[in-house]
Amino acid sequence: MENHTDIAIVGGGLNGPILGLALASAGFSVTILDALPVEAQAQPDFDGRSYAIALGSQNLLRAVELWDGLAADAQPINDIVVADGRAGLGASPHHVHFDHREMEEGPFGAMIEDRHLRAALIAAVADNPRITMRAPARVVAQETGAQGAVLTLQDGEELRCKLIVGCDGRRSGTAQRAGIRRMETDYGQTSLVCALEHDLPHDGIAHQMFFAEGPLAILPLRGNRVSIVWTESRDRAEAIQAMGDAEYLAALAPRFGDFLGEIRLTGARYAYPLGLSLAEHWTARRVVLVGDAAHGIHPLAGQGLNLGLRDVAALAEVLADSKRRGEDWTRGPVLQRYAQWRRFDTAGLALATDGLNRLFSNDNPLLRGLRDLGLGAVNAAGPVRRTFMREAAGLGGDLPRLMRGRPL
Ligand SMILES: Cc1cc2nc3c(=O)[nH]c(=O)nc-3n(C[C@H](O)[C@H](O)[C@H](O)COP(=O)(O)OP(=O)(O)OC[C@H]3O[C@@H](n4cnc5c(N)ncnc54)[C@H](O)[C@@H]3O)c2cc1C
Repeated sequence: MENHTDIAIVGGGLNGPILGLALASAGFSVTILDALPVEAQAQPDFDGRSYAIALGSQNLLRAVELWDGLAADAQPINDIVVADGRAGLGASPHHVHFDHREMEEGPFGAMIEDRHLRAALIAAVADNPRITMRAPARVVAQETGAQGAVLTLQDGEELRCKLIVGCDGRRSGTAQRAGIRRMETDYGQTSLVCALEHDLPHDGIAHQMFFAEGPLAILPLRGNRVSIVWTESRDRAEAIQAMGDAEYLAALAPRFGDFLGEIRLTGARYAYPLGLSLAEHWTARRVVLVGDAAHGIHPLAGQGLNLGLRDVAALAEVLADSKRRGEDWTRGPVLQRYAQWRRFDTAGLALATDGLNRLFSNDNPLLRGLRDLGLGAVNAAGPVRRTFMREAAGLGGDLPRLMRGRPL
């Protein structure tokens, strides 16, 4: 058991490497392990998603020196328009328009394509002398004790560390091996994701339209391009995904409308089945969960990664402060500080996205009336609208230092 590192991060997706960079900046030695080879994640078509990175998350990415390299590929989100939609009829006249000019911080955040974010992460991790990246390296067992923790890889190799962080996604093996159970709900919906080119400018406006089968998000990318997250019932999504490109666009047209002129597919089409997956506990002896390993939520508000990044910033702060005070930063009460800090925000967002999906994903005329009333009321009430805007920008609540643009 030669290998030794302060912190082993299981999962080198998105949250894992960003946490690694933050912890390395606080002087911890970090090993990141991922089951997939780095070359697979480096493929530009590895993942079709684009992320709405809120202002708070941008502050974190700036602090770990990633943002400057990403800014040229980022599309600012100037406005957000939320509407109840009807296929063929377009958006209802009752909608909410969140206008960034009402917020002194400027645009809500920016859209970043997965391929750009992942490439930046791979390069930054490779350049950092305090981080060792091990991939492919699948973790199959973990043991924790008073003296430390040991991870076993699929090839039998063992890695010793002081703390294990599970960043291994919504099916987290780290959580399972620690005996942490999950609360899971299948939404019976699938999100179809792709990028589209269009003729008319999008002006940096993100649209969220709610249909009975599920929401459609139209998210601005650099140039005359948008990323869509088109949610349908699972059966219908599978049927649409099996169509040829022309049929796919024809199925999308009644929902998308023609406000951006003619649309064309650019790149591959992806499908993501949706569910809610919440870990019952976030910590166990020498184990802590971050990102989707702790909470996988509905993507309708584009907040899953932002929520994970708030975990990253909070855990880095708790561990760095504890280390500075000379404490044993692996102790239960230290890890609990992180869990307690993050629970309220997570429960709130999981409930809100779950509730919105239930309220909007149906054609009940009574609920439709209520929704339209609600949207109209929020649009008319400036203070309520501004509260929503600060939340969407990731600036609400008890934010960790890195999210407020302050050093760790
Ligand atoms: C359609 C869709 C659109 C979305 N849009 C947005 C958005 O606009 N904004 C936003 O904030 N969020 C968005 N999200 C949410 C966001 O994509 C997720 O929250 C985020 O990708 C989670 O990252 P993660 O690093 O926690 O987990 P993952 O990306 O799932 O990474 C987990 C990693 O762990 C590795 N792993 C698993 N098991 C092992 C093991 N045993 N050993 C070693 N490695 C292992 C895997 O290989 C993987 O690389 C969206 C989600 C969906 C489905």
